[in-house]
Amino acid sequence: MRLPPSFIFGTATAATQIEGGCTTSDWWAFAHTKGRVANGDTPDVACDHWNRIREDVTLQTRLNARAYRMSVEWARIEPQEGHFDEIAIERYREETKLLRAAGIEPMVTLHHFTFPSWLANRGGATARDFPERFARFTKHVVRALERDVSLWLTINEPNVLVAQGYLLGIWPPALRGDLRALAKAVANLRRGHVAAYHVIHHVQPHAQVGLAHHVRIATPASPSLADRFAARTLDTTFNKPFLDLPQDFVGVNYYSRDVVRFAKDKPAELFAERTVPEGSEKNDLGWEIFPEGLGVVLRMVAKKKMPIWITENGIADASDTKRSRFIADHLREIARAIDEGIDVRGYLHWSLMDNFEWAEGYAPRFGLYAVDYATQTRTLRKSGELYADIAARGQIPT
Ligand code: BGC
Repeated sequence: MRLPPSFIFGTATAATQIEGGCTTSDWWAFAHTKGRVANGDTPDVACDHWNRIREDVTLQTRLNARAYRMSVEWARIEPQEGHFDEIAIERYREETKLLRAAGIEPMVTLHHFTFPSWLANRGGATARDFPERFARFTKHVVRALERDVSLWLTINEPNVLVAQGYLLGIWPPALRGDLRALAKAVANLRRGHVAAYHVIHHVQPHAQVGLAHHVRIATPASPSLADRFAARTLDTTFNKPFLDLPQDFVGVNYYSRDVVRFAKDKPAELFAERTVPEGSEKNDLGWEIFPEGLGVVLRMVAKKKMPIWITENGIADASDTKRSRFIADHLREIARAIDEGIDVRGYLHWSLMDNFEWAEGYAPRFGLYAVDYATQTRTLRKSGELYADIAARGQIPT
């Protein structure tokens, strides 16, 4: 099975997870609060990408990649309200130039989970002026990078951000079952996206602007009415609140599915307990490996009649025994969808290299390159070799 020659292969990362050296964000403060991140890990150094952009672009050329999804750190660019750090912006400009020179198209995410502390301190996503502040920051970045960047993502996985931060309470601002704050955050993130969408088009009329949606399959654990209700609730509240926004393409982050059981003792989770079917194959974080789900998701978002990018898909697999098959199986789903006439433009594997996996710290290994954090050595995994080969020829191994 093949993917068409026009299909674009690449990788994805996010600033906080790889850069290191930024102390002005809510996630820096969160990770420095005891008990919040596994093993007491912090993003202080991460992959030291901030000092290694040349080397990390070279890693991508070895993968035959033609696109790279990266994010810019708002807290670094605007460390104090209204004060923009031109040296930081210059660094990002240098990076996007290097990418272009290497024949790699940058796709830039403006918001990937983190807030500058000055905004987090007054509510982050729930701050009344979040949409305006985000739009101002966006304008600044787009003006600075517009020569080399025309593919933009406004916000990464706003549904995950609100679920982890306001429902489960395991990410900042660590509120559990706070539905009032959650509703406010959802409304504000929607406004923020719309404001940024228009600002980007105003500065750069030919821009292609999307949002990275985390879409999961919710399968009822049994045919019972209660389980079907719980699965439907999860699907509606998790997958739907951001899909109807203005966008020029749909960014899909796909990882796994949930088998959902009604749980009357879990009001904070909206009575939906997410489980993993017994005997199913899992990644190192216990998530079910379910490639068919990507096909289902693609058919679902294709109804929007817009180009689709897979903006993330990957696996925590430290032993690298499952990643090659994971990649091939998911690419096959994409090839099938394209054969059916669905307009999927490209696939950005999560992730270029191992990185700081939020509250899970450094233990999960998502990279095509393994990172030795003591020496910052990057080593191409076997699955990375396979990916490079697929990217060169478009041929998916059986
Ligand atoms: C996020 C990434 C994260 C990945 C793996 C996505 O939800 O956008 O930041 O590392 O999943 O968990």
